[in-house]
Amino acid sequence: MQQLQMVDLKRQYNKIKNEIDIAISNVIESTAFIGGKDVSALAAELSAYVGVKHTIPCANGTDALQIALMALGLKAGDEVITPSFTYIATVEVVLLLGLKPVFVDVLPDAFTMDPVSLEGAITPNTKAIIPVHLYGQSADMAPILEIASKHGIPVIEDNAQAIGGSYTFPDGRIVKTGAMGTISCTSFFPSKNLGCYGDGGAIFTNDDDLAVKMKMIANHGQKVRYYHEMVGCNSRLDSIQAAVLRIKLPLLDEYCDARRAAADYYDNTFSSHPMLTVPYRAPYAHHVYHQYTLIVEGFDRDTLHTRLAEKGIPSMIYYPVPCHKQEMLKPYGTHDAVLPVTNALNACVISLPMHTELTEEELKYITTSLLEILG
Ligand SMILES: *Cc1c(COP(=O)(O)O)cnc(C)c1O
Repeated sequence: MQQLQMVDLKRQYNKIKNEIDIAISNVIESTAFIGGKDVSALAAELSAYVGVKHTIPCANGTDALQIALMALGLKAGDEVITPSFTYIATVEVVLLLGLKPVFVDVLPDAFTMDPVSLEGAITPNTKAIIPVHLYGQSADMAPILEIASKHGIPVIEDNAQAIGGSYTFPDGRIVKTGAMGTISCTSFFPSKNLGCYGDGGAIFTNDDDLAVKMKMIANHGQKVRYYHEMVGCNSRLDSIQAAVLRIKLPLLDEYCDARRAAADYYDNTFSSHPMLTVPYRAPYAHHVYHQYTLIVEGFDRDTLHTRLAEKGIPSMIYYPVPCHKQEMLKPYGTHDAVLPVTNALNACVISLPMHTELTEEELKYITTSLLEILG
């Protein structure tokens, strides 16, 4: 057996090496390194896949969130509601723009924004809500969208971990993650479900005006070259990354299925163990398992992490410190925020290797070893 990894990008590359190598060398031959035809073609293909009118490729998922917030025209001190149980990027952009982060708790089973906690956090100053489709599973969007629309507040979906997933509305409508909010954002960081070979990201919307504005913001606030109408930034997706993504996008559903098959294997071996809670499969979501994250109780999580490592099995803690308790947030006075579910989860979650190339032999070794450790 080869050395186990959290994410095995080498084996995935080997299967598509010919197409990727040709696509990359075509970009080099064309020398259209920035804004080549692959970038606009990818944007159209992503719009079709996600089911939105406009896709604006950009440099990374963090920029995507920042540009989305900039486009909403918020002013200093406006409040933005996010879960604390997320990657720091969701929150960092709020701070960068001088906005006020307001943290809400997550559902204890789904790990995504608790609509009740959201409702309680809304004030007249709430100007945006950012639900995060954490670990590959859609947040419960119907109640979130209902609360947002009742108060006239735009929703930005953080879809960095769940592209390829979907949400089923109570009326039976199935919508892809990234096609539900006013704006949505994703990341093409290599280890994400749709990863490129460097940094990359994209912004999605059905709103024509916001699309124009976000395209300008990502390009120094200009529509016409050298005529700058507003303060923007420089956030572009390289042509080489777009070319890689154009090969991987048609494989995304297959990749998600491979992740789901690995999750099935894990679930089958772990679901009856008294110390383990397998990831919740919300009836409203098509989970695409960016992470496979267990809750461990009655056994020290960090000891489990160390023992797994001794057996050559990597595992990760996403995330060891919740956002509201990060040093970065100290000046914002959020360290004592009352978020009981978030505070409890950080101490007991552990994520196992999850990628598109896990073999049955590897899954068997990982699951058997983990059960042995728990005794
Ligand atoms: C990865 C990630 C981001 C940021 O994406 P980058 O491309 O790394 O900037 C934002 N939010 C979440 C939830 C993420 O997982």
